[in-house]
Amino acid sequence: MKMRPHVGIIGAGPAGLLLSHLLASEGIDSVVLESRSRAEVEATIRAGVLEHGTVDLLRDMGLGERMQREGAVHHGIELRFDGEGHRIPLTELTNGRSIMIYPQHEVLKDLIAARLEQGGRILFNASDVRLADVASSQPGIHFVHEEQQVELQCDFIAGCDGFHGVSRAAIPAAVQTVSSRTYPFGCWRCAALSSNRCSTVDCFWPGMPLTLCLRRGRKGSIWPSPMYVTWHAPSRCSIETSRLSC
Ligand SMILES: Cc1cc2nc3c(=O)[nH]c(=O)nc-3n(C[C@H](O)[C@H](O)[C@H](O)COP(=O)(O)OP(=O)(O)OC[C@H]3O[C@@H](n4cnc5c(N)ncnc54)[C@H](O)[C@@H]3O)c2cc1C
Repeated sequence: MKMRPHVGIIGAGPAGLLLSHLLASEGIDSVVLESRSRAEVEATIRAGVLEHGTVDLLRDMGLGERMQREGAVHHGIELRFDGEGHRIPLTELTNGRSIMIYPQHEVLKDLIAARLEQGGRILFNASDVRLADVASSQPGIHFVHEEQQVELQCDFIAGCDGFHGVSRAAIPAAVQTVSSRTYPFGCWRCAALSSNRCSTVDCFWPGMPLTLCLRRGRKGSIWPSPMYVTWHAPSRCSIETSRLSC
């Protein structure tokens, strides 16, 4: 079987799905290929925090209705050192900006549902995805879907399949430009989300005992259960102990 969209998008993560919406809003046809099932994509727990720009974009594109209703806006955080609280008023410090606590897999559910309702094409369970002629003006994607060999002929391929996907490796070194930026500091992030329960995370950094409490009291169904905790630790610093209680 052959298909001929303007853009072939590999990966139905936030990048691929949002791109398909942005293209559709400009009248540009695309097909999204995803190696996993819809149920798997919608059940993968990852990010929990949406930055201001992402919230604005989703809302402006008419994709943020449930996020606005069920998400939680945060205007700051409180860090405690030796039992003393220090509030960081993020909204005051950033000219009124805030962050939204709304899980990534809920964003994906919204993006997938809206795209399919609009008649967009998302092909889940695509296997053996291969890129062809990527340096030409007629690149192609070959894959198997529902036991059929499929060929997409596109004007553009958007490889939104992450660092370990097939797209990155398919770009010839001679035409590849890698951009990266290394910041001179590390960052950490911790999230604990649970349904209807208070969550407390105690973290002990080498030489610096730090307690971070995240509370979620409102009843609702969007919060992953059991709770999850993620760490993005500074490269020069490792977490000695973490304890989760609820
Ligand atoms: C634990 C954790 C917590 C995080 N917390 C935050 C946070 O709070 N805020 C935040 O902004 N970011 C957070 N992030 C980062 C955020 O999750 C990523 O930036 C985001 O998922 C990247 O989206 P993406 O669409 O580029 O890639 P992905 O989400 O990785 O999507 C890629 C998609 O491509 C598919 N795919 C892969 N290979 C193929 C193939 N060969 N063929 C077809 N499909 C393929 C995959 O199945 C996947 O669905 C977190 C990440 C993790 C892991």
